[in-house]
Amino acid sequence: MATDHVVTRFAPSPTGFLHIGGARTALFNWAFARHHGGRFLLRIEDTDRARSTDAAIDAILDGMAWLGLEVDDTPVFQHKNAARHAAVAETLLARGNAYKCYCTAEELEAMRETARAAGKPPRYDGTWRDRNPAEAPDDLPYVVRFRAPQEGEVVITDHVQGTVTFSNDQMDDLIILRSDQTPTYMLSVIVDDHDMGVTHVIRGDDHLTNAARQAQIYAALGWHVPEFAHVPLIHGSDGAKLSKRHGALGVDAYRDMGLLPEAMRNYLARLGWSHGDDEIFSTEEFVSWFGLDAIGKSPARFDMTKLENVNGHHIRQCDDVALAALVCGIAPELSPRQKILETAMPVLKERAKTLFEIAEIAQFLIVQRPISLSEKAAEALNDDTRPRLIALADRLGALENWNKADIETEIRAFLDENALKLGDIAPALRAALTGTPTSPGIFDVVALLDKTEVLGRIDDQISQ
Ligand code: GLU
Repeated sequence: MATDHVVTRFAPSPTGFLHIGGARTALFNWAFARHHGGRFLLRIEDTDRARSTDAAIDAILDGMAWLGLEVDDTPVFQHKNAARHAAVAETLLARGNAYKCYCTAEELEAMRETARAAGKPPRYDGTWRDRNPAEAPDDLPYVVRFRAPQEGEVVITDHVQGTVTFSNDQMDDLIILRSDQTPTYMLSVIVDDHDMGVTHVIRGDDHLTNAARQAQIYAALGWHVPEFAHVPLIHGSDGAKLSKRHGALGVDAYRDMGLLPEAMRNYLARLGWSHGDDEIFSTEEFVSWFGLDAIGKSPARFDMTKLENVNGHHIRQCDDVALAALVCGIAPELSPRQKILETAMPVLKERAKTLFEIAEIAQFLIVQRPISLSEKAAEALNDDTRPRLIALADRLGALENWNKADIETEIRAFLDENALKLGDIAPALRAALTGTPTSPGIFDVVALLDKTEVLGRIDDQISQ
């Protein structure tokens, strides 16, 4: 494969949010360019003016920025190239590779009807293909159609799909310029890819048949056809094409769920691409391993639980100071205790799968006395456990060095002396200190709160 001067592009249509499938396409194009030391470009395919919105463009740019998929040039806005696209259509007309078609909407409908009646797919029947242009009406609107070769075949050597052959007689003469002289998607994409020097087109396999049509037009223009890699679309857990029905959301929603961009990159990378049995890897590893040959031919299934697990792994690998800042970003009430959060982070992040889970576990560090107990936590405080807490509070009150090791030694000695097990006191202590039945390890909880606070919180519960 010629990979000198690799240029890839992500070419979203800005008609909705940046969804998971689009994000993965962007990631693969980005990684391929980075792997080869090439360039990664962004083209906003906004030729459908009615459906393109600024909000969608912002969502694409924000999503890519959050995912860390930096582009190597200013984004291209496709509709601004319309004059150039029209000029290329003129070239095709001048060379006889395209022609003007004056069919009316009624004629086209009749054509479709005839095809349907004959049990054939609705196609343009070539009415104006070989008609003498001299017969053309003077003042009627026309579209420009590409004169597609009718014989032979187009062979696409796709990096994912392998060799795919399309018979030319299956492809009719598609419109490249509409009657208002605006270019259609099929023409714009070819001209822009050519003008942007794109060497590799990596996109969803819903565009595979477009590749065949595009290859015909490339050939007519005498332009070099880029390499293609058509990646199977992502499916939901039930095997059907991923949709909103499966809870598929915009990338911004995953950010708002407290996922880390590096985890998102890791998980998206594994949606359709693999490197042996590796599930958890850094972005650097991904870029150094990435290639088109390891993209699978069958659709990957999106699995939110797996994404959260991957996120948990990345949370544990994340720097504690950075993580504390991210947690404060989504839970501003924790900001005044950011320093404590940094110290507590190794404990807080141990089992967390999202930033929100960390924020939730960290609440015990900031709650004000007297803390309120959940119903379940309150059950741990009863006539058996309260006296034990009173006795333990005395011991802890006398403890000189307030650190986890000394606290643990002291508590264990107390338990031994009273023939108790940890389970005889930990739930009550946890309830008094955190107000919840679950928390990090109990010795960590005691050590992370200062002594006065611990004694005060116990006191609040036993003096009732
Ligand atoms: N704009 C097209 C889409 O959003 C992609 C076109 C392409 O990648 O060639 O599906």
